[in-house]
Amino acid sequence: MKLNIFCGMLAMAVSPVLFGAEPAIYSIKIVEFDVRMLVETRGPGRANILLDLSAAQLETYIPGGSFGSETNTFLVRGKGRTVVVDTGFGGAIFSSMKELGVKPEDVDTVLLTHMHGDHIGGMAKDGKALFPKAKVLLAGKERAYWVDQQGNAGAKAALAPYSGRVETFEPPALSAGGIEILPGIRAAAAYGHTPGHTAFLVRDGGKELVIWGDLMHVQDVQFPLPSVSVTYDTDPKTAAASREEYLSYAARNKVLIGGMHLRYPAVGSVVSEKAGYRFVTE
Ligand SMILES: [Zn+2]
Repeated sequence: MKLNIFCGMLAMAVSPVLFGAEPAIYSIKIVEFDVRMLVETRGPGRANILLDLSAAQLETYIPGGSFGSETNTFLVRGKGRTVVVDTGFGGAIFSSMKELGVKPEDVDTVLLTHMHGDHIGGMAKDGKALFPKAKVLLAGKERAYWVDQQGNAGAKAALAPYSGRVETFEPPALSAGGIEILPGIRAAAAYGHTPGHTAFLVRDGGKELVIWGDLMHVQDVQFPLPSVSVTYDTDPKTAAASREEYLSYAARNKVLIGGMHLRYPAVGSVVSEKAGYRFVTE
């Protein structure tokens, strides 16, 4: 009897979010590339980050105002490379990599979509690089904004131990095809969330996955209403234009997209609707 009461209380106290009804790693092959989406954190999202959304719209897309949210990173292996795309908060990314048999020193390149704390948290600790052998690639515009213009302490600390191993590029527009920065991996501008926000296109044998970083934070709202931006966007208007550009590209070309704040599996295809889009996962 006592045990039953205890179990009942435990079931009430532990939300499925904490233990994760979904696993923490999702695998997908892009022909030669082995891609793993790694869940860094999972928990309730905040609806008050949405800009210009009416109460009626909110009730339509997020009844009751509660929805699940994640922070994710990606591990991409193939064509002789081991690449991490964003580093989360520096928590689960390392335990997930360990589970996959990948050591931090095996990572040869860290790609950064942008320099917000939930993407660069796993770069460094106590002044030491957590990916000791990796070079870091990011948009020059992004580094200039956070490090030079803002003098952001977190951004500076993330890059400092990689001194001499940080390379910047200027990502061309998606419509111009981006630029190849590693064999089979292209970078394209996805500005707005931050000034140098970048998407990475993993492409092989006619298959493509667009890792689009933070083009979207609240999928329940922003697929159907892509013009809605969030308070985290540096330039909400440009962020909305980029979101529409990538959604339309993904729907038209039938490529996969993957996002840092989409829910597990956080990878899927995009279908154009009469108004807005729909996200289809397997
Ligand atoms: Zn983020």
